[in-house]
Amino acid sequence: MAKVLCVLYDDPTDGYPTSYARDDLPRIDHYPGGQTTPTPSGTDFTPGQLLGSVSGELGLRRFLEGLGHTLVVTSDKEGADSVFDRELPDADIVISQPFWPAYLTPERIAAARNLKLAVTAGIGSDHVDLEAAIAHGVTVAEVTYCNSISVAEHVVMMTLSLVRNYLPSHQVVLDGGWNIADCVARSYDIEGMHFGTVAAGRIGLAVLRRLAPFDVTLHYTDRHRLPEPVERELGLTFHADAADMVPHCDVVTIHAPLHPETEGMFDDKLIGGMKRGAYLINTARAKIVERDAVVRALRSGRLAGYAGDVWYPQPAPADHPWRTMPHHGMTPHISGSSLSAQARYAAGTREILESWFAGTPIREEYLIADAGGLAGAGAHSYSVR
Ligand code: NDP
Repeated sequence: MAKVLCVLYDDPTDGYPTSYARDDLPRIDHYPGGQTTPTPSGTDFTPGQLLGSVSGELGLRRFLEGLGHTLVVTSDKEGADSVFDRELPDADIVISQPFWPAYLTPERIAAARNLKLAVTAGIGSDHVDLEAAIAHGVTVAEVTYCNSISVAEHVVMMTLSLVRNYLPSHQVVLDGGWNIADCVARSYDIEGMHFGTVAAGRIGLAVLRRLAPFDVTLHYTDRHRLPEPVERELGLTFHADAADMVPHCDVVTIHAPLHPETEGMFDDKLIGGMKRGAYLINTARAKIVERDAVVRALRSGRLAGYAGDVWYPQPAPADHPWRTMPHHGMTPHISGSSLSAQARYAAGTREILESWFAGTPIREEYLIADAGGLAGAGAHSYSVR
C-alpha cells in the first residue's frame, strides 16, 4: 500500500467555507484543440468546492483510503522540521500545487527513498528538480491544460488593469477620493498597441486569441512556429527570439515554462531593449525574470507597469521587493487556482493516481518525466542541463 504525501495551501483565514458565491460551474468537456478534460472513474467532491486547501484534500481521501492507501495532507513544507520533511522519507507519492509548491530539491529526492511519483496538481513542474527526479527514476506528471484558460483570463485582466490604471483608480474610491486626474494621468487604451507573448503554447495562444478582439497587433516568439493558418487568422508576427520581439511591443507577456533555457531571460539587457513605458506581465514563473531588474526598470520608467502572480520563493517573504515596487499589479499565485480550475486539476490528479495504481499508462500529455528521461509534454516543452 502506498503512502501519499500531499502538500496544499492553508485554509481561508476565517475557516473552510460552508457555502460559496455561486451554485454551479459551467460544464466543460474539452479544451481548445480537442483534448478531453480529466476522466477519472469518479470524484468525491462537488465542482466549485475549495479543493486546493488543506481541508479540501483535493477530494482524494475517500478514494485513496478506500484502496487501502495512506494520505497525509499538510501545508507545512519549509525547514528541516517541517511536516513535509518528516513525512517524506517513506512517502511513495508526493502531490503539490505550484501555488504552494513542495520544492523537491535533489537533497529531498535523495532523502525520499520510496518516492516513485511526483504529481503536480496544476501545470508547471519546475518545483521538482527534474534532473534529480530522472536520475532517481521518479515519474513526474502534471494535469496539462487544466488551468491554461484560467491563466489566460488572468492575463487579459492584468493587461487591462495595468494599461488603464485600474488598481490605483480603485484605491482612490476606497480612500474616499474623487481626483480624476490622479486616476487618468497614467491611463491609456490598449486599442492600437502592439502585444507580444514569449511562448505561444496552450496559455500563450489562448491569450493571443482573447486579445485579438481589442484591435491590437499581435506578436509572438516560440521554439516552434504555430501553424500558418493560425498565424494568418490572428495576424501574428513571428519573431525568432524574445530580444527580436520586445522592441516592437507595448505589452509583453511570458508563457514559457521555467527551465534552463528560460531562467533569467528577462535581465537588465532584455528589459533595456523594451520600449520605454512598456508593460510586462509574467504568470509563468518568477525566475524567468530577474527580480531586481524588474524593480530597477519600474523605478527608471523603462517599464510603465509589471503584473503577474508568480514569485520566488513561494510564499513570498513579507519584505519581497515586488510587494512595494511602484506601478505593479501583483497577486499571490492564484491565476491557475480558481474554483473552476481546482475542479479540473483535482479530477486530473485522481485520473493520474487511478492509472498509477492500476498499472495502466498515464496519459502521454500529462507526463513530464518518466522511464529515466523527459517524457510526453515534458519532452516537448522542457529541457534539462
Ligand atoms: P505549454 O507546454 O502548452 O506551452 C509552453 C510553451 O513554451 C510551448 O509552446 C514551448 O515551446 C514554449 N517554450 C519552451 N521553452 C521556450 C523558450 N526557451 N523560448 C520560447 N518558448 C519556449 O504550457 P502552458 O501554456 O499550459 O503553460 C506554460 C507555463 O505557464 C507552465 O509551464 C507554467 O510554468 C505556467 N503556468 C502558470 C500558472 C499560474 O497559475 N500562474 C498555471 C499554469 C501554468 P514548444 O513546446 O513549441 O517547444
